Amino acid sequence: MQKKPIKIGQESYSHQMEQEIYQKMKERTFVLIKHDGVAKGLIGEIISRFERIGLKIVGLKMLLVDEELAKNHYKVTKEWATNLFDKSKKAAEKNGKKFPFKDSIEYGKMIQVWNQEYLREGPIVAIVFEGPHAVEIIRKMVGHTEPRQALPGTIRGDYIIDSYDFADRHKRSIRNLIHASENLQEADREIGLWFKKEELVH
Ligand code: ATP
Ligand code: MG
Repeated sequence: MQKKPIKIGQESYSHQMEQEIYQKMKERTFVLIKHDGVAKGLIGEIISRFERIGLKIVGLKMLLVDEELAKNHYKVTKEWATNLFDKSKKAAEKNGKKFPFKDSIEYGKMIQVWNQEYLREGPIVAIVFEGPHAVEIIRKMVGHTEPRQALPGTIRGDYIIDSYDFADRHKRSIRNLIHASENLQEADREIGLWFKKEELVH
């Protein structure tokens, strides 16, 4: 059956026009439900939050990560290491602690090793979501890297307690349940790394 055109103000939009706008504006982004999210039984809860807002799943799989994939996922680039270093330093100083590290790349390499271990702790779920502004919307719903700072209502703010301080004392990554691409460039790289073209639907 033909759908009725949508009436907005004086203008009438056909569903074909709506589809064309969607096609122009859609983005794809990459999400990982890390092993702590899987172990806590949060796969359904996390996916349903993104589905409810209107994002589409276009790729989904559960897997164990090998050493090579873990290394390639957490690549130490200058930009990533600088950002990571600044966030970690700011959090330490806010809590009146001295941040003893000087070199962002060296610091990034240390965290990268912890991150690879974290990624390989057990099964994880890799998902590609699609929708307008998907990268930005998902990052907002995921919340701050440090669950201690993540606002209530975000995934990291609602389902886990962890902090830079706590993680550093244990010499491990911050446990924050989920990874989401930070920008479109990162999303493209990560989707290509985790999924073959034929594993994604159109
Ligand atoms: P993700 O990339 O996992 O979505 P993010 O973009 O919020 O998280 P990044 O700065 O990219 O944060 O850091 C990647 C991951 O490294 C974080 O999710 C966290 O698990 C870990 N991490 C970051 N900084 C620290 C730190 N100072 N100590 C321990 N672990 C850290
Ligand atoms: Mg990141």
